[in-house]
Parts: sequence; structure tokens; C-alpha cells
Amino acid sequence: MKLNNAITIDGPVASGKTTVGKELAEKLGFQFLDTGVMYRAVTLAVLEAGIDPGDEDTVSEKAEKICIDIYPPSKNDGRQYDVFLDGVDATWSIREDRVRDNVSLVSTYHRVRQAMTAKQRAIGLRGNIVMVGRDIGTVVLPDAAYKFFLIASVEERAKRRFLETRQSGKKTDLAEIQRSLEERDKIDSSRKLAPLKAAQDAIMIDTNDKSISQVVEEILSHVKEG
Ligand code: C5P
Repeated sequence: MKLNNAITIDGPVASGKTTVGKELAEKLGFQFLDTGVMYRAVTLAVLEAGIDPGDEDTVSEKAEKICIDIYPPSKNDGRQYDVFLDGVDATWSIREDRVRDNVSLVSTYHRVRQAMTAKQRAIGLRGNIVMVGRDIGTVVLPDAAYKFFLIASVEERAKRRFLETRQSGKKTDLAEIQRSLEERDKIDSSRKLAPLKAAQDAIMIDTNDKSISQVVEEILSHVKEG
């Protein structure tokens, strides 16, 4: 059975999923969920609690206990949504380098994925949703009516992340960004559980020379045809 009105967008780091997904959801009047935020929130909680990210059992216990809430943006400071971790605004802290550098390891753990997937599925099954991540079309919502997988070269993705970071006023380095992006992609694609991979029935979109609106229009044309 197809899950109507559910659109999944998966892809590697900085492939454009979040910006495209958010704009698409706005156009369709659908809810938007960026699942990467949840794995980042778990990682932040682990680091804040002084837990070693390599300690799978303790990390998993933490993931099963914490409360993550995502709301529409309450401030005009460039945020795409509000992320609350156990009642505290963590929207910007989940973007810190220490979270980026540990999130892929934390995301390999079975109990962490189980806890996050259950939350994501409960939201997805309500329908009228655009959900983005790494395993949404393959594992979280395999019955979604529309599935997309975005790709772009590693150089293009590193450049996008570099410009984004510079725009936010943070000091940044292109080579370091590319290194960390390649490292994260490697862990995400090679893990045993729910690896980063296109679903067999996903439509692949190469975003290399396309603007966000072009990608959104391309997705919309498939959704309207269907
Ligand atoms: O999308 P974003 O880069 O914020 O995701 C952070 C990390 O969370 C990814 O590198 C990946 O390790 C993990 N993730 C995942 N499954 C998802 C979404 C994100 O494993 N559905």
C-alpha cells in the first residue's frame, strides 16, 4: 500500500535536501521534517552529559530517554525551525563542530536508530509530509508515494557548505569542510544499519548545476504527474 502525500528526500551531506525539502513543503502546505536534526540532538545531549560517543550502551540509553521537539521558527535569526532538547532551545548548538564530528558515529548505533526511526515514522504516517534524511525512502517510510535522492559532486557540496558557513559569520576552511563531509559520507554509506542509499524506486536528481527552485520544480513535476 502506498503512503499517500508522503514525500521522502534522501542524499549525502549538503546535497540540498533541507533547503529543497523545506521549500517544497511550503509550496504544498505539507509538514517538513529534517531527521538529521534528531541525530544531532542525540549527539549534543551525549556530549553535554559528558558521555563518550564511543560508549554505545550509555549513548543508546540517553537516546531512548531524551525529548526532542521541533517547531516552526520562533526567531528571525536565520533558523529554519526551532529544535528543543529536553525543553531547552538547541537550534544552534546542534550545528556546532563537535556535534558534526560525532553525529555519524552515534547514528550507527542500533538502539539510537530504533528510537529515532519510531519517532519519525509516527510523524510520517500522519501524511502530508516532506521528510528528509539518509534512510527515509529505504527504512523510515518505505511505502511513501514519492521518493527522491539528491546527488552532487563532493567539490560542489563542500563549496555550498563553505559559503553557507561563511555567510553565517563563522570562520571556515574549504579543505577542512570537504574532509569532514567525505568522512561523514563514508561512515553514513558504509554502516550496516540503514546506510545512506537510494531506494530502488527513488527518482535520482543531480543538483550540480541547478538552483534550489529548479530542483523544487523538478520534484513538483513528478509529484503532479503521479
Ligand atoms: O542531515 P544532517 O547532515 O544534519 O545529518 C547529520 C547526521 O545524522 C548524518 O551525517 C547521519 O550520520 C545522521 N543521519 C542519519 N539518518 C538520517 C538523518 C541523518 O543517520 N535519516
